[in-house]
Amino acid sequence: MTSRPPEAADPLWDGGWYRFAHRVASPNFGPRPEGATVDLVVVHSISLPPGVYGGDEVRQLFTNTLDWNAHPYFKTIEGMQVSAHFFIRRDGALLQFVSCDERAWHAGKSSYRGRDNCNDDSIGIELEGLEGGTFEPAQYEALTSLAAAIAQRYPIRHIAGHEDIAPGRKQDPGAGFEWALLQRDLGWPRDWFPQA
Ligand SMILES: [Zn+2]
Repeated sequence: MTSRPPEAADPLWDGGWYRFAHRVASPNFGPRPEGATVDLVVVHSISLPPGVYGGDEVRQLFTNTLDWNAHPYFKTIEGMQVSAHFFIRRDGALLQFVSCDERAWHAGKSSYRGRDNCNDDSIGIELEGLEGGTFEPAQYEALTSLAAAIAQRYPIRHIAGHEDIAPGRKQDPGAGFEWALLQRDLGWPRDWFPQA
């Protein structure tokens, strides 16, 4: 028999919810497979409409409340039920939609480190931005703190872009994302990152 300290004792986490994120519960999630080893962080970029920042549309998309008629682009994604665990705005503000103990719907058809269906055993982080574009210092700061906190609770050994786990199908976050900067700030081993 083992004993473990109560979850409330953890200064960073309330179960799978990060204490320093603003919670916005999404219905788009399910259970992880039994015994899943959550060892991968997936970095994405998103903005709605693409290239427009600061609005409420990403939150609306992830909570199934987006008005598909509000913009022509939204018609092209009408009916999508998706979610990421986290969303980091341009100013570094952090939202969490799904408990990291649950399976969010961010990766789609994917394969990485020899395993398919990356949603099963990864944590998805969306950066407000445009694939191929650059990201703000405040976003790297928030991402670094968040990824470090995730690695304290989950046995993370890999961090990769959506483009790395779904090559040819996805291009985010793209060439404007500075993996070397993130690696330096996190101090994680080089081989945890996508190979150049
Ligand atoms: Zn993505």
